[in-house]
Amino acid sequence: MEVTKQAHKAHVLVFPFIGQGHVNPMLQFSKRLAFKGIKPTLITAQYIFKSMQTTTIETQFGPPIQIRSISDGYDDDSGGSHPESIAAYLDSLRVNGAKSLAQLIMRLNDEGDPVQAIIYDGFLPWALDVARQFGLVAGLFFTQSCTVNSIYYHVQRGLIQLPLTGPDLIKVSVPGAPELHPFEAPSFVHTYGSYPFWFDVILGQFSNIDQADWVLCNIFYDMEKEVVDWMAKLWKVRTIGPTVPSYYLDKRLEDDTDYGLHLLKPDKTLCKNWLDSKPKDSVVYVSFGSAAELSNEQFQELARGLKNSDLNFLWVVRESEQAKLPKGIIEENSKQGLVVGWASQLEVLAHEATGCFVTHCGFNSILEALSLGVPVVGVPQWTDQGTNAKFVEDIWGVGVRARVDDKGIVQRKQLEECITEVMEGEKSEEIKKNLSKWKKLAKEAVDVGGSSDKNIDEFVAYLAAC
Ligand code: UDP
Repeated sequence: MEVTKQAHKAHVLVFPFIGQGHVNPMLQFSKRLAFKGIKPTLITAQYIFKSMQTTTIETQFGPPIQIRSISDGYDDDSGGSHPESIAAYLDSLRVNGAKSLAQLIMRLNDEGDPVQAIIYDGFLPWALDVARQFGLVAGLFFTQSCTVNSIYYHVQRGLIQLPLTGPDLIKVSVPGAPELHPFEAPSFVHTYGSYPFWFDVILGQFSNIDQADWVLCNIFYDMEKEVVDWMAKLWKVRTIGPTVPSYYLDKRLEDDTDYGLHLLKPDKTLCKNWLDSKPKDSVVYVSFGSAAELSNEQFQELARGLKNSDLNFLWVVRESEQAKLPKGIIEENSKQGLVVGWASQLEVLAHEATGCFVTHCGFNSILEALSLGVPVVGVPQWTDQGTNAKFVEDIWGVGVRARVDDKGIVQRKQLEECITEVMEGEKSEEIKKNLSKWKKLAKEAVDVGGSSDKNIDEFVAYLAAC
């Protein structure tokens, strides 16, 4: 333990966008800060706060992480008054959130617990203005890869024109990153005009980045050295990842086995008992994360592909998606497969029965596969997932990408072939070798004196001097 629970070097607000893929890495980063003597307070929206069982995440290794709420303008959302559109919600979050965040900072001041910095999600760039209003340090936190960051930056500054034309239609190229076919670039870039509101959010990450005091990236340096070096010429960029619980990496944070805040309730015992009954490396774990919505046809193909593989499968299908499962699939496959609404993904990936991970390639899922050493079959859906899948196959060499048909569907046969390839095919040995390399590098990065550990030390020293 590096510090006693009473003393803290600085107090920071950590403000993730709402969504499991944002909360997990920023909460985990908060724990690393707590370990090093910073007091982090996690910010969430009031309607989520109300549904939480706790207002504090206790740690064995530093100050507890307090959770405080701000208003997004929909404080009673759990009652059913859902915002009419994403655009309306994001607008309301910006307007009400900024006001409410400022009020919280003043309240904390009054309580004798002043704040020195705000670490805010790139999706919430207006938090920088609030930091400035109070003279606080502003740390921008990116939850996506640096190649993806760089592509968005190039688009935001007009250095890559959309819709893609001319040479960009053949390859999308940014300094330090491999050349990408357009289909490997983020979906907002190759399919210009798709999800306009999300597109604005994505580009908004770079609207005021030049004013951020720190730019914190959830990767470790070895993953994307050249892109990081390039970004570091523009901003004070530091890699601080992977933000996977310490138990799976350096084990320095006592009892840190889980992220600690599940927005959906995982079927922990059911999954564990089921996995315990299966032989080593026999299970295909399938999950498309917290937000992706698949078509009925894609569900059909996945279901048939998994069944035909004759392998055991554990499939996370969120409740809101379950109606799309082919009829009878659960009963038909009850011995071979288990479908749950949400899992404790880390526990599943770490279980010895798990042999491969069919994933949408959300960036956290990829970091987890890399850190825990699980071969990947990438079935990307949208946003940055196609770029992550490219890296999985061609750069990090930890899995394969499933190919889609003309309608963008991964057919059953293709899924089966990919699963076989990573589990026992020609590439499987190479994939396993690469995985053990990355797993070791991930651990080293966050362990004493590793690249991310040193960067976090530097950040902490800076905060302590504020
Ligand atoms: N996750 C989980 N249980 C599940 C599926 C996902 O705990 O059943 C976690 C997973 O470990 C990851 C996060 O949810 O940390 C999803 O983030 P990711 O970036 O992979 O995808 P997103 O949900 O943002 O699309």
